[in-house]
Formats: sequence, structure tokens, C-alpha cells
Amino acid sequence: MGDVEDVRASQAVRLFETLVQASSCRGTLQAFSTLCRQLDLDPLDHHNFYGHLKDAVRSWKVQALWTKLDKRAQNKVYGQNGACSGTRVLVVGGGPCGLRTAIELRLLGCKVVLIEKRDTFSRNNVLHLWPFAIHDLRGLGAKHFYGKFCAGSIDHISIRQLQLMLLKVSLILGVEVHVNVEFVKLLEPSEEPDAPGWRALVLPSSHSVSEFEFDVVIGADGRRNTLEGFSRKEFRGKLAIAITANFVNRNSAAEASVEEISGVAFIFNQRFFLELRDETGIDLENIVYYKDQTHYFVMTAKKHSLLEKGVLLRDFPETERLLSPENVSQDALRSFARQAADFGTGYQLPALDFAVDQQGRPDVAVFDFTCMHAAESAALIRRRRGRRLLAALVGDSLLEPFWPMGTGCARGFLAAFDTAWMIRGWRAGRAELELLAERESLYRLLPQTTSENISKNFEQYSIDPATRYPNLNSCCVRPHQVSPRTTPPAGP
Ligand code: FAD
Repeated sequence: MGDVEDVRASQAVRLFETLVQASSCRGTLQAFSTLCRQLDLDPLDHHNFYGHLKDAVRSWKVQALWTKLDKRAQNKVYGQNGACSGTRVLVVGGGPCGLRTAIELRLLGCKVVLIEKRDTFSRNNVLHLWPFAIHDLRGLGAKHFYGKFCAGSIDHISIRQLQLMLLKVSLILGVEVHVNVEFVKLLEPSEEPDAPGWRALVLPSSHSVSEFEFDVVIGADGRRNTLEGFSRKEFRGKLAIAITANFVNRNSAAEASVEEISGVAFIFNQRFFLELRDETGIDLENIVYYKDQTHYFVMTAKKHSLLEKGVLLRDFPETERLLSPENVSQDALRSFARQAADFGTGYQLPALDFAVDQQGRPDVAVFDFTCMHAAESAALIRRRRGRRLLAALVGDSLLEPFWPMGTGCARGFLAAFDTAWMIRGWRAGRAELELLAERESLYRLLPQTTSENISKNFEQYSIDPATRYPNLNSCCVRPHQVSPRTTPPAGP
């Protein structure tokens, strides 16, 4: 009998290790499903899943992860995983912010279903992590899933590695994840007696998620935001054209010794940019270089320089035409990015071979940042036929970041926590308008947050905004200011 148990225990550890080591989205989901099947764990038993998994997988190595996750789960805001029990949430989008929000909501005890329209995590591009985000991710066991996570002074991570790690934590905590499912629109409750409540129209329409009824929906599907009811404001600045490029990192000693560029703004280092222009004809406003799984560069280039170097074929006043695929020479773009990368690193990187993107093409791209979007409001409440729905935005759907600054993930995580706080208040029965007013007050803070002006006591951080924002004024928006804008007229 003892032998059988030993075999089962070591099988559990092996299966769990396969999940930990999985290096793709599909591989992770497959390893998770095998683990559940072989260990007789029910992934739909959200409430008990984590406890059952912990009981099944015991080894000193995994114990360190359980200790971290237990410590997080024991924070009093979560009410021992019961603060939001009975609340059903649909999260749209499995980017870093959708996943990070899903984790908080699961810790609060919600039933969380997350849908993602793709089944690959392919973005090599690298996100800058503010110190609080590094601390936060360490507390979720980041190092267990990715040993190189923020080693030494490294403060960045590739988007795909971050998604992968957050996906694993989500699954372990009992978030129900469905890939290859695309959100199309909300379906209102119908008039028939006993009709289902709020649901979503998804593609494929026959997917089981279309039957899921929820009380809360989170829009985390990136800059295009498909969740209806939220108007957006546009910030139009002066023309800003960004280029991202990823080169293969062979992890050689020569590559390891090359210094990163963590953001050389023109005003701070004019000489660098003047020399770059004199030597190569490339005129930049800024450049960032991070050494991660790839050598990642993001730079803002001046239009005249892109025209002179033949990257842009013709000049057009409208940015859309200017950057349309027909007007961009891919050869010249590659050579532009390579030259800038070479100069920026003092010609120290031995070979600048492009990494490939999801389509197998050299991973270099040009983007327009002239105009960025932000949602007019962060949350709204809809009511149809007596059924309430709380809808909220997080991440790029809420506030689009300026990539060269890499603020998307840091502000995205703050908004994820603020949203979880609102949902906790909603479940606790706080007055609707008061809750929305508080959420909007916090949202007004978000664009002003920097790694310097938020609290430095990361150990104290929780979804409670008071733990993160010093001098917090959560009443700067008053309840009477949110009512007409954020809650559409009540239905029958
Ligand atoms: P995203 O990371 O955009 O995730 C949104 C997710 O929603 C995606 O996985 C998408 O497939 C999914 N989705 C979209 N529509 C639907 C739908 N209808 N139904 C279901 N799922 C849906 N920031 C930087 O700082 N530096 C960079 O170099 C950089 N490069 C980027 C490159 C690309 C191609 C993109 C899209 C974004 C980039 N960003 C970059 C932005 C950065 O990735 C985000 O700020 C960060 O990932 C947090 O975003 P998020 O989770 O809100 O959204």
C-alpha cells in the first residue's frame, strides 16, 4: 500500500514539474489537463482546487511555492477566499493584466472564467517592471516558474514569459481558462421567466462559455477594447513613430558583457543622439535596450530620418497612410533597426540576427504612437430586467501605455488591484454610486503614478488602495458625478 502511495506521490511531483517547465501556452494547458486527469482533480471545483492540488503534490521544492501562495492568500482582504464567494466573473483577454486580475479575483473567492482568443503567447517584446511589480510577482512564485526572473539588477521580462507565468499561477489557483475563444458582445438577460442572466456571445458560438452567466465582466483585451458601453478619449501628441526589434540572444559571454540602455532620453544625453545622427544618419528621440530572452530594442524615430533612410517610401500627412505596409520598406526597416542597435551598444553585440515573430518573420515592427487612447471611465453598472452587471476595464483597454516608457504592465497591475477592490466592495453591498465614484477617483490617479510616487512599502501592498497610494483621496470624484455618465439608463 505504502509503495502505491509513493508511486502516486512521485507521479504527482513529476506531472506538476511538467506544468512548471511548460514553455508555451498550449503546452501549459496540456500539462495542466494531464495533471488533473491523472491525479483525479476537478479543475471546475474552483473553490477546492488549490487545496486538493497542494495535498496531491508534495515535495520540498514545491513546498516553497505553496508557502508563498498561502502567504498571499492569507491576506485579510481576501476573507479567507470567501470575500466574494458566489460572484461570477468573466475576464476577456489573457494578456498580463487580464491574468493578473483573474488571480486577484480568484483569491477573493470569485468563480473566474477567462477567455483568450489566441492559443499562443508569442510577444518577444520586453516590459519594464516597476519594483512593486517585481515584488508582487516574486510573491506569486515567479522564480519557481522562471528561474531567471529579475535576477540581479534585471527589472524587465518578455511579455510572453510574463503571460506564461501568470497563466500557470491562474490555473493553480482555480481560474478556468479557455483559449481560442473570442468575445464578441454581451448578451442581455431576456424577458422570459427563468431566463438566464448576463452572458456573452463568443466565437465559436457553440463553446460552453456561451452558457456561462456572470455578475461581473472585465475587459482586458488590449488597446482595441471590445467591451461595449465605454467611450474613449484620444490623446493626440506630436507625431511619434516607434520601432521595436528583437535579435537572437545566444547567451554568450560577449553578449552578457554588453550594457543595457534603460532609456536615454534626448534631453539627458544629447551627445549620444547627435553622434548617432552624424555617424549613421539615424535621428532618434529615445532608445531602450533590454537583454532578455532576446536582445530587445524600442526606439522613437524622427520621420525625416525614416524617409531619408528609405524606411518610409513616401511622405503623407496622415499617419495611417505613412505607416501602411505598402509605404514601409521591410529591408530598410531591418537595416535601420540593426544600425541603431549596433551604435547604441557600441558595436559590442557580436551578431545581430533577428529573432522571428509568430509568423516566422524577422521580429521588427514600426508603430504609430501619435495618438493614444484612454477609457472615459473605468467601470459601469448595467441593469436589465432586474439583473445587475458590473463591467470594468483593466490594462491597455483602460489606459494605453507609451511603449518606450514600458508603463503598461506597472499601471496595468495597479488598475487590476483597484478593480479587484471595487468588486470586493460590490460583493459587500456598498452603495453603487459610491463604489463607482471611488473607482473613478483611483482611475484619475493612474496616469500620474510613477515608480517614485507610489508607496515603497511593498510588503504591505494589497488590493486595498490605501496600501499603495500615499496621500490617497478616494473621493475626488463624487457619487453624483458618476451617475449619468457611467450607468446607462435602467432597463425594464
Ligand atoms: P494585452 O497584453 O494586449 O493582452 C490582451 C489580450 O486579449 C491578448 O492576449 C489578446 O489576444 C486578447 N484578446 C483581444 N481581443 C480579444 C477578444 N475579443 N476575445 C478574447 N481575447 C481577446 N508594451 C511595452 O511596454 N513595450 C513593448 O514593446 C510592447 N510591445 C507590444 C507589442 C504588441 C504586439 C502588443 C499587442 C502590445 C505591446 N505592448 C508593449 C503593450 C503591452 O503588451 C501591454 O501594456 C501589456 O501587455 C499589458 O496589456 P494587457 O494585458 O492589458 O493587454
